[in-house]
Amino acid sequence: MSTTVLPTYDDAVARYEPVIGLETHVELGTNTKMFCGCPTEFGAEPNTQTCPVCLGLPGALPVANRAGIEATIRIGLALNCDIAEWCRMARKNYFYPDMPKNFQTSQYDEPLCVDGYVDVDVDGETFRIEIERVHLEEDTGKSLHVGGATGRIHGATESLVDYNRAGIPLVEIVTKPVTGLGARAPEVARAYVTELRDIIRSLDVSDVRMEQGSLRCDVNTSLNKPGEEWGTRTEAKNVNSLRSVERAVRSEIIRQSGILDAGGSILQETRHFQEDTGDTRPGRSKETATDYRYFPEPDLVPIAPDPAWVAELKAALPEKPSVKRARLREEWGISEVDMQSVANAGAVELIEETIAAGASPAGARKWWMGELARRANETGVELAAVGASPAQVAQLQALVDEGKINDKLARQVLEGVVAGEGDPAQVMSARGLEVVSDTGALQAAVDEAIAANPDVAAKIRDGKVAAAGALVGAVMKTTRGQADAKTVRELILARLS
Ligand code: ADP
Ligand code: MG
Ligand code: ZN
Repeated sequence: MSTTVLPTYDDAVARYEPVIGLETHVELGTNTKMFCGCPTEFGAEPNTQTCPVCLGLPGALPVANRAGIEATIRIGLALNCDIAEWCRMARKNYFYPDMPKNFQTSQYDEPLCVDGYVDVDVDGETFRIEIERVHLEEDTGKSLHVGGATGRIHGATESLVDYNRAGIPLVEIVTKPVTGLGARAPEVARAYVTELRDIIRSLDVSDVRMEQGSLRCDVNTSLNKPGEEWGTRTEAKNVNSLRSVERAVRSEIIRQSGILDAGGSILQETRHFQEDTGDTRPGRSKETATDYRYFPEPDLVPIAPDPAWVAELKAALPEKPSVKRARLREEWGISEVDMQSVANAGAVELIEETIAAGASPAGARKWWMGELARRANETGVELAAVGASPAQVAQLQALVDEGKINDKLARQVLEGVVAGEGDPAQVMSARGLEVVSDTGALQAAVDEAIAANPDVAAKIRDGKVAAAGALVGAVMKTTRGQADAKTVRELILARLS
């Protein structure tokens, strides 16, 4: 490939129209695997959660997990899809060491759910993302390459494989190509995955944690000149956070535009998103469907969900996240923009639970959207994984409301909570962070401040009460922020009146 000069993002979207498509995999939270009774718990010793079926031993026969089918149908319904009355699983044949059967049980031309949509809001504008299909498949195992510096296969001395994950149900949600987004494409892609995550989370069928891989997203991007046919797409994998979804689309737009500007053509390929640089690197060139030699799975009976059952599932769907957001926005008394940032931060449920644990809406929002959001950003984890629970945040705010700590001390308490030092009250006493309002204990510090600042003291004696602030500040300094400011002020004025 010739070296190309990269255009700016604005130049790229001025010359080309992006088309995007998102393929999202969701690992279902069923108790057992999709086609056998093995447990699905995360983090067990390698290869302890396997059996002849999920190891693909000869003669072993799969049986479909009803809970997996039900969850897939509920996802389809929540995404406004039509549910197939009859469909089959298919074998997708390929060889990969972490796939013991040498085929993946998946769906091909007969997906369980088709033709849905999701509406997403970006800055007050609504974009409808059409869903092509929602299908059920199984996860692969995991390879581990050891002995090298990078953990990649290159330079490794041994490769290990763990089949615990093999056979865990996965749902793949594929959008139709999304056009007409222009410069908004990266933001809309992110908003779509966010909305999808919230919808699926509301169904309680998966913990949809991108950082743990239970929600994974492949991002397809192509560019075309206005009025011309769609261009060749690339597929970015390894996109492990909502922020990365946005960055992956953006960097592909810039990269592809550079190639097209120089008269080159785009290779249809899988690329790997690089978290550190924010761009993508080439991976394998993309297989086509014929390479997989799909055929209907002969060992499983067709899936024919009773329409009455599907209707029941539909009637029992939970409140839509978008409807819920509108309701909570009213209850919390905040603006649409503020609610949007709460949603984008993944904080809706966290704030809701914090309020349920006793905090005021303002108090709950303040910690999650302030201190904790900042930490989550810095450490690159989702807010829910930052290390404080809703109950702890409610306890923290209660300590502030009771006057036991002020905001400054509360931030230190929160630091201890996040570091795993215990609940707020525990951290407060262990670190000795309680506000001191005991007049006896504060009197000495007050007298010291008066002695050290005779000019200020003189002013106050002359009736310039406003000057007391400087002395309060001095006392706060010597008590490392732990003095109760109101009490200090009273003591100062009492001494100098
Ligand atoms: P594959 O498994 O080969 O990636 P899929 O059909 O599962 O194929 O997914 C392809 C994704 O790419 C879909 O989301 C589709 O909407 C999207 N797509 C198709 N054509 C284009 C294009 N020209 N530009 C961007 N995205 C596209
Ligand atoms: Mg695909
Ligand atoms: Zn098994």
